Amino acid sequence: MTTMYEPSHLDTGNGNGLAVSVVARPCSLRGCTRTDAQLCAYQDRRGRQCQAAFCPAHSISFSGTTYCRRHAGTVQAIGELAKDPNGFPDLSDRAPSLVNWIARDLDQSIRRLLGRAARSGESVIVDESVRLAHDPARNARWERSWRIVEHTGLVLKVTVHVSEDNDALVHVRVGTEMVADGVPPWIARRREGQEVEAAIDVSQRQLFYKFLEENISSAVLRFRARGDRAPWGR
Ligand SMILES: [Zn+2]
Ligand SMILES: [Zn+2]
Repeated sequence: MTTMYEPSHLDTGNGNGLAVSVVARPCSLRGCTRTDAQLCAYQDRRGRQCQAAFCPAHSISFSGTTYCRRHAGTVQAIGELAKDPNGFPDLSDRAPSLVNWIARDLDQSIRRLLGRAARSGESVIVDESVRLAHDPARNARWERSWRIVEHTGLVLKVTVHVSEDNDALVHVRVGTEMVADGVPPWIARRREGQEVEAAIDVSQRQLFYKFLEENISSAVLRFRARGDRAPWGR
């Protein structure tokens, strides 16, 4: 007896159908057994391609392009820069997404703080994504800022930044003053291979953000008490 080729029977909808044009690729997430993973589309400015492949449940798509979670964070962080092929940070650079993450969590409180500190004729401007900047020694860093401005220019700038050469250390500057820095607790734990209960994780995060917020707040108050302005361009 001859078995006929009947395409309609091949795809039974249970995931075992023969997929002729799609190579079965296992998901890289430990414990996930799916084999419909897709390669992450991320390619950095040096032309290097991410080799991670994750299934649809463990990857993130933006307008039809699929990324691993890590690089989805990078693409989200750089915003408009993602339109420029030379704008993509190095494959292993965690700084842009870390800055974006911290800035997002501090955003409400810094907006409130600067809104209260702004005087009549001044307004608050907020960066929507991270941008690449260089310190005086030409070291690259990723940063996001909140500014008080008036019609003649900048009054005060609050910046969160992470440099490329130490992509775990978060720095906060208010005007020309470095007011706080620290490695976020979840990154410190990952480095040490530590795991903690969810409740401890939450309280460590809260303490970290409280530390940053208090230092930013007192620096802004000090700045206003002095009554002077930040030097131009800082
Ligand atoms: Zn998966
Ligand atoms: Zn990736």
